[in-house]
Amino acid sequence: MNILVTGGAGYIGSHAVKRLLTDGHTVAVVDNLRRGHLSAIDALTTIADGRLAFYEADVGDRSAIERILRENHIVAVMHFAALAYVGESVTEPLLYHHNNTAAALNLLEACDAVGVQRFVFSSTCATYGEPAPEHIPIAETTPQNPINPYGWSKLHVERILSDYLEAKALAGKPFAYAAPRYFNVAGSDPDTLIGEHHNPETHLIPLVLHAAIGKRKDITIFGTDYPTPDGTCIRDYVHVVDLIDAHVAILHSLDPNKPGGDRRIYNLGIGRGYSVREIIEAAQRVTGRKISVLEGERRAGDPPTLFANPAKINAEIGWSASCTDIDEVIKSAWRWLEAHPNGYA
Ligand code: UDP
Repeated sequence: MNILVTGGAGYIGSHAVKRLLTDGHTVAVVDNLRRGHLSAIDALTTIADGRLAFYEADVGDRSAIERILRENHIVAVMHFAALAYVGESVTEPLLYHHNNTAAALNLLEACDAVGVQRFVFSSTCATYGEPAPEHIPIAETTPQNPINPYGWSKLHVERILSDYLEAKALAGKPFAYAAPRYFNVAGSDPDTLIGEHHNPETHLIPLVLHAAIGKRKDITIFGTDYPTPDGTCIRDYVHVVDLIDAHVAILHSLDPNKPGGDRRIYNLGIGRGYSVREIIEAAQRVTGRKISVLEGERRAGDPPTLFANPAKINAEIGWSASCTDIDEVIKSAWRWLEAHPNGYA
């Protein structure tokens, strides 16, 4: 299949590109390199066997996207390109609505013009906001009430896709889309060809490992007075390789010719949570290093407990996370960091 991957130079997108190339697909990547890394593309090129085309372009650039879709005979799109810092979205909401919502709309318009029938959009559990305790574990039917512009910028795209599908179905035209909602994505490619490198890094697992390797002095736990067994927040950490495995399974199962159109909304998580303290303990076990831990204030907007009920994707397409042992997730992230202590050059 000829597949367009937006954000293919970023963390999750690059793992998708690797898997698609390994499966024999031909991949075009669009990335504006604002947060992505050209070195990830260089690394992926070494395994591409001539099946990877890279375009430094913005998803919001209509003529560029349409040309790329046509030139590469794209039949499916995986749209990962996005800004994903919750705090930044609060201070720069227009940036998020422009870059995440408006750019996705542009991409979909280009797909419409060219006739692309399969679209996979990376959504997020941030669209649920702070679900009431009776909604934990979180099923897809949980009400979506984002509490920040990042969550809204993703939810708007879900809505646009839904409206577009309805219109296509009414017109009797083929279209299928998926909006997998990610929980906390973690870990790295087991071959360490590519990995996780954010600047700035704000995610718990890489930060804990940075403390273990000496890139930072310590890790601060954001809040120890939550109503959880050890007082720290609980999250569902899904291995990036499993997450991409789900995307591939979803892509293959999409049926644009299904009567009424094909819409797939799935929560992607392992179905259990780990606390911040459990993550730090696991990182100490995996690395064999003592990690200096500080206890700090709560971070605004952090709900105490979030984990997925991933039963729907399991029932419909048979996917479940193969890596449910947090030590294994952290081990893969640690291998990447040891091999690339400064991330991409
Ligand atoms: N966290 C923490 N210290 C840090 C970074 C994160 O205690 O330096 C906590 C954060 O409050 C949350 C969990 O770790 O409860 C996961 O945070 P992360 O930013 O990795 O992902 P999020 O759940 O916000 O998407």
